[in-house]
Amino acid sequence: MKLIDGKKIANEIKEEIALEVQKIKEKGGKTPHLAAVIVGHDGASETYVGHKEKACAQVGFNSTVLRFEDNITEEQMLQEVNKLNNNPDIDGFILQLPLPKHISEQKIIEAIDPKKDVDGFHPINLGRMVIGLPAYVSATPAGIMELFKRYEIETSGKDVVVIGRSNIVGKPMTILLGQKANPGNATVTMAHSRTKNLKEVVAKADIIIAALGVAEFLTADMVKEGATIIDVGITRVKSDKTKSGWKLLGDVKFDEVSEKCEYITPVPGGVGPMTIVSLMLNTLKAAKGEIYPKE
Ligand code: NAD
Repeated sequence: MKLIDGKKIANEIKEEIALEVQKIKEKGGKTPHLAAVIVGHDGASETYVGHKEKACAQVGFNSTVLRFEDNITEEQMLQEVNKLNNNPDIDGFILQLPLPKHISEQKIIEAIDPKKDVDGFHPINLGRMVIGLPAYVSATPAGIMELFKRYEIETSGKDVVVIGRSNIVGKPMTILLGQKANPGNATVTMAHSRTKNLKEVVAKADIIIAALGVAEFLTADMVKEGATIIDVGITRVKSDKTKSGWKLLGDVKFDEVSEKCEYITPVPGGVGPMTIVSLMLNTLKAAKGEIYPKE
């Protein structure tokens, strides 16, 4: 078994970004600036935004966090999004999900200027990605594609099963791996909660992407000998063995599955750090006008 060390790769990419930012600054260019919007006091959301702020500091970006109480109205949220759309200093911004139930996430996402949508959630970016146009690609699938690239894991002609069909992970992952590109060119099955005989479907896969959010769902009996396993899931469970009182579990029963597979990502330290660094890469692209040329 070979461990796919997402933390190490993410650190390498951060160093590459930091060098590029340094060059931009030396030439008198503008420092890339990422903003994050967070509503309420969800513990996991706070942690993720904290990681993103830290990563911005590491690569030399400016970052701003806009915090709102969970009684903010949808109208006020739309106004805040509009302000960010029109703020020339902000290159890109993200909306930390989930939002409170009285606010339509879709409505807010669609209000984001696609040019600043560095999370790739806007239908324009998703649509452009699907037809192979330059687009911001959702950070988690983009990070996984980078892992395939850097570990030189062959995807062409492989049978891939993606478990999960969310708009931010499962669906874009399925499209990216099926596209005519490298990595890509795989035969992809998107499995979900209504899939019949999931075990049999998954057991045939050369590559399994587990993105369902059910702790330790994937067990050794579901995995073909020599398969590649990408574990996206993050479930926080109470633990008396950690300082924080929490530990993170993936969607894969690591101990038993790792004995059977060729490659596997750990949780934590696999897909998570790659998600953050992909957001940094998208922000750099926004600052450089790589996806949508600057006006
Ligand atoms: P989601 O809840 O939106 O989607 C889960 C999907 O899994 C659904 O499409 C559902 O059909 C499918 N599913 C649920 N139970 C199933 C079952 N028993 N069998 C088959 N399919 C089933 O979740 P999401 O936003 O895509 O996130 C998935 C997981 O990945 C969560 O644990 C989340 O915390 C984690 N996540 C991690 C990162 C990271 O950076 N590592 C980023 C995003 C999400």
